[in-house]
Amino acid sequence: MRHIDEYRDKKLVDVLLKQIWEASKKPIRLMEVCGGHTVAIRKFGIPALLPSTIQLLSGPGCPVCVTGKSYIDKAIKLVARTDTIVATYGDLVRVPGSGSTLEKERANGADVRMVYSALDALEIAKQNPAKKVIFPGIGFETTSPASAVTVLRAKKENTENFYFLSAHKIMPPAMEVLIDEEVQIDGYICPGHVSTITGSGIYEGIVDKFGLGCVITGFEPVDLLQGILMLVRQFEMSSPKVEIQYKRAVKPEGNVKALKLLDEVFEQRDDWWRGLGIVPKSGFKLKKEFECFDAEENFDLELPEAEEEKGCICGAILKGLKRPADCKLFGKVCTPENPVGACMVSAEGACQAYFRYE
Ligand code: SF4
Repeated sequence: MRHIDEYRDKKLVDVLLKQIWEASKKPIRLMEVCGGHTVAIRKFGIPALLPSTIQLLSGPGCPVCVTGKSYIDKAIKLVARTDTIVATYGDLVRVPGSGSTLEKERANGADVRMVYSALDALEIAKQNPAKKVIFPGIGFETTSPASAVTVLRAKKENTENFYFLSAHKIMPPAMEVLIDEEVQIDGYICPGHVSTITGSGIYEGIVDKFGLGCVITGFEPVDLLQGILMLVRQFEMSSPKVEIQYKRAVKPEGNVKALKLLDEVFEQRDDWWRGLGIVPKSGFKLKKEFECFDAEENFDLELPEAEEEKGCICGAILKGLKRPADCKLFGKVCTPENPVGACMVSAEGACQAYFRYE
């Protein structure tokens, strides 16, 4: 398979591993902040190939995992009305809120529909003019441009029954908070997909303020090993910088068109992340001119702050302080079929990735 085989080439993998083993002298802790990396690293068994000097940590890179219970509670409150439809991505329906999930509400008769895109949700709104259709939009800079396009189209088409419940998040502020909170990290394996949109400049602050290396990395074994080698070399030479390993997809300037869309539709706001709490300027909210589509502005969504599931240590796992196996519920009470916490619900969650591949 062209474009895959060359990044899984055993000879290249062996060369890179040899270089990593030669280069890595001091203990180094590298964190990935992308759910795709969390899965790929475990699936390809990368940790077992590395010298003991290199420790890989999973960070807050899975959108479902960092989204709070209160957000799910809001979606459940919305779908409890008789005049609404919640149209959402499949991952989100199984995420536990305080006492239920969207999946359970659907089983009890609520109108919850699964969609593959925000535009599908807009289409449902057009087909159901008597209903108010809400799309819960989660994810990082990778998915927020599609939400922006949908809101612009809803405005252009004067769709009056479409609403957007935003939990879109911005990655770099969370990466900075982790370092501020003194989580021991020596370099970031930066997200490949997010960076195709944002470009590489968003990580410069991490290098300048904290002296940590940032390497934007792809998702195949050769990508991951090359990214790790670049970070190890930066660390050994005390020369932190932003580098792009994933050059076939990421340009330094990012996707200018998508960035323009984000700027047109969203403004930054402080947002809540599981494990990190409120992170300044780490979320996207619709701008005032799109307020008529903002679910939070058009429905009463005041709810008490939700507590985390007893025994679940997702918060500490998302900060790289604990590993899934440190959770007493892991693999016993909590499994992908019967998830207790968000990190086991999502295919990109650290708990599910460890459960499936380690
Ligand atoms: Fe939470 Fe389950 Fe992970 Fe434990 S194994 S931290 S309960 S998601």
